[in-house]
Amino acid sequence: MPADLRAAAVAARGFMPPDEGDALWAAGLAAARAVPDRPFLEIGSYCGKSSLWLGGAAQASDTILYALDHHRGSEENQPGWEWHEPDLVDREVGKIDTLPLFRRTVHDAGLEGAVVALVGDSPTVGRHWTAPLALLFIDGGHGTEPAHRDYELWTPHVAPGGLLCIHDVFPDPADGGRPPFEIYERALASGAFTDQRAVGSLRVLARSG
Ligand code: SAH
Ligand code: MG
Repeated sequence: MPADLRAAAVAARGFMPPDEGDALWAAGLAAARAVPDRPFLEIGSYCGKSSLWLGGAAQASDTILYALDHHRGSEENQPGWEWHEPDLVDREVGKIDTLPLFRRTVHDAGLEGAVVALVGDSPTVGRHWTAPLALLFIDGGHGTEPAHRDYELWTPHVAPGGLLCIHDVFPDPADGGRPPFEIYERALASGAFTDQRAVGSLRVLARSG
């Protein structure tokens, strides 16, 4: 990965630790080799931190990353919740808006040609989605309903040989919420995906059939 792009990703605001980001980059390159000419899709871009690793890998592989987020924040980002960041609130609208920061992050990293923002609610977009994906990264709503819905709607679009990446997978409940771990287990139990790599809370699975 180019050193300046990695430095931008490490410095970007958000929740992706560098070692897990590097694993995303490697997964992107591998996915593009396994499934040429198909896009990547990320659910949950926030301020664009993970988008730099995945978008960089897309650019290096001559494909693109669809970065899907309604940019209104998850439940845990809302006022009064654990991860609320008041400076991200659009005061006139009275809601979180991470789209301006996301755009700035992608622009400054020189990735506007490779990262396409899909601004909307994941199930609303997923309902009409048809394109096979080389790589799907799930890091959107972490509640039971959103996580399982993302699993059900989006994983069928991972092309054979493509990769499914899931963030915030914590086998020990003491480390974090259950839904990402549950959908990781669902993917394995489905028989359609096999474990490929684990780095921190990131899991990389490959579509077998
Ligand atoms: N990948 C990011 C962190 C994502 S945080 C990083 O590297 O920093 C989770 C994101 O999921 C939030 O930005 C939130 O707005 C988005 N999200 C939650 N539920 C969503 C939904 N139903 N549709 C679209 N985006 C959603
Ligand atoms: Mg995450």
